[in-house]
Amino acid sequence: MFIFDIIDKKRKGKELTVDEINFAVNGFVEGAVLPEQMSALLMAIMLKGMTDDEVFALTKAMQNSGKTYSFDFDVVDKHSTGGVGDSTSLILLPILASLNVKVAKMSGKSLGYTGGTIDKLSSFKGFNVELSEKEFKTAIKKVGGSIISQSEEIAIADKKIYALRDKCACVESIPLIASSVMSKKLASGSNTILLDVKFGNGAFMKTKKMAIKLAKLMVKIGKADGKNVCAMVTNMNYPLSYGVGCNFEVYSVIKALNGEEGNLSKLSMQLSAKLYSMATGENYGKSCEFVNTALNSGKALNKLKQIITNQGGSCEILDNPNSLLSSKSVLPVLSKCDGGYVKSINALTMAKVQKLLQENVKDDEKKKCGILLNVSVGSFVNKETVLANLYSQKPISNEIIELFLSGINYVKTKVKQPKLVAKIIR
Ligand code: URA
Repeated sequence: MFIFDIIDKKRKGKELTVDEINFAVNGFVEGAVLPEQMSALLMAIMLKGMTDDEVFALTKAMQNSGKTYSFDFDVVDKHSTGGVGDSTSLILLPILASLNVKVAKMSGKSLGYTGGTIDKLSSFKGFNVELSEKEFKTAIKKVGGSIISQSEEIAIADKKIYALRDKCACVESIPLIASSVMSKKLASGSNTILLDVKFGNGAFMKTKKMAIKLAKLMVKIGKADGKNVCAMVTNMNYPLSYGVGCNFEVYSVIKALNGEEGNLSKLSMQLSAKLYSMATGENYGKSCEFVNTALNSGKALNKLKQIITNQGGSCEILDNPNSLLSSKSVLPVLSKCDGGYVKSINALTMAKVQKLLQENVKDDEKKKCGILLNVSVGSFVNKETVLANLYSQKPISNEIIELFLSGINYVKTKVKQPKLVAKIIR
């Protein structure tokens, strides 16, 4: 078998066999298939697509390229395909753990303009995201949940292939995203998995139609492996929380865990209720009641304290969230609209503003750079309205302010709240 023939076959749009896919993936991990050859194959897949059988084979090949975890008790997992101001994991994890559903969460770092849970956890001083498999399992048994960085040992092929995709413009491909996400999920040992598949300007899938296609494929892969899996297709056309950037998203999370209402808490509750119902067999309505009580009684907040403490982190910010807002430069941005309603807040623009606020700031201070929005879709504004406060460790330029202002659009008439969840795929 030759990698040249495999690339040529895919380039002509033909279906690859399981053996050919294994040959390419294993060869790339071992070094026999060169990065330029793998890049060519990835681009051919990106342009010609894959059949379901090819995607299943690619997922299995990547899943089996590293270690697979298994638990001697039931655990659940939730995975988001990535968004802006998307910190639902930090709310869902303690809610479920406080309801005696064990959560084994492996998270990633920021990808492109999307934020990563692991980066946000750096806001908790001392929090250790590098637990061994044994420590991870012990932590889950002890406090009901743990969140760690994606293990280096899991789905090794995905890590290598993902790095190439990032360099050769092969990220936004449905078969490649589905196999990448699911190889990690299947290898990390949870038997119940909820996928949050995002669509919109702040997501990899720009349209709802594409996100539904991706969600259906991922659910199919999970079911073929015997998992209890379900996907929620959710709106990422605007930032999910009013905080964008590590400290600011964690600030929004703490407020939500203290009962503050908003889209972040609403979606976190819907995801938690869905996952609770999948894990326990309880109906969705009753699951919503349990989740609501866990959040509003302070039980979830206490559980987060236990989880953070158990992994060596400091809970100081949970008692004093304002300490997260201590950046060197803080700039209120006033609206230029004299009487109107916010029609849209572009998630991608907000993410770009956040990246610019971080530019030329030391790595360990980047978490102090971000946005706290004062308005949301539907808010009434006039010229005195502070739209947001921008935070940075350096002076904030006019270019950044202009970019921020370009991301908010207004209309004269009242605006209907956009739907958070577009579809559920079972
Ligand atoms: N997240 C992943 O893990 N992989 C992708 O390809 C895209 C998002």
